[in-house]
Amino acid sequence: MNIRNSIRTIPDFPKPGIQFRDVTTLFGDPRAFREATDSLIHLFAGQRIDKVAALEARGFIMGGAIAHQLCVGFVPIRKAGKLPGPSLSESYTLEYGEATMELHEDALQPGERVLLVDDLIATGGTCEAGIKLIRRAGASVIGCGFIIDLPELGGRAKIEALDVPVHVLVEFEGD
Ligand code: AMP
Repeated sequence: MNIRNSIRTIPDFPKPGIQFRDVTTLFGDPRAFREATDSLIHLFAGQRIDKVAALEARGFIMGGAIAHQLCVGFVPIRKAGKLPGPSLSESYTLEYGEATMELHEDALQPGERVLLVDDLIATGGTCEAGIKLIRRAGASVIGCGFIIDLPELGGRAKIEALDVPVHVLVEFEGD
């Protein structure tokens, strides 16, 4: 399959033992990039989507392309301290330490239906923070879409337990 073959694995990045699933090679391949965006859009076909939100940073590349294709607005969910306007913050636990994601307070209107996108789901912590931010803004998450799932890390199950449907294009073993 075009999508799986276009993803490069870099061993021991950013630290020993991590198999980094590098989607820059997918983004650089015009057929794979279009297939990935079109496939995710098809998985959510028939649903009303008011906005596409995405998680920094590789999620922005998919999310921007999907929002453009759907003719809806795009909303960035960024790492702490990057958004210029008043923002909502949500902190979550990483393997070592803590991380914080932020959303502009006025980026979403109450009642809007949001599709949340990222390149990869691992433990699901980043995505969960994104869902909490969207819900705190009064909007709802109609689903989450990823190119890659690492099922052994349980992120997908964590997000589905929040009553959010999850669609992924490929799974990779290990972490
Ligand atoms: P998590 O919050 O654990 O689901 O981690 C998801 C975020 O970390 C995503 O934004 C991914 O881009 C990144 N990430 C985690 N593990 C990997 C991996 N093995 N390869 C590439 N990116 C990863």
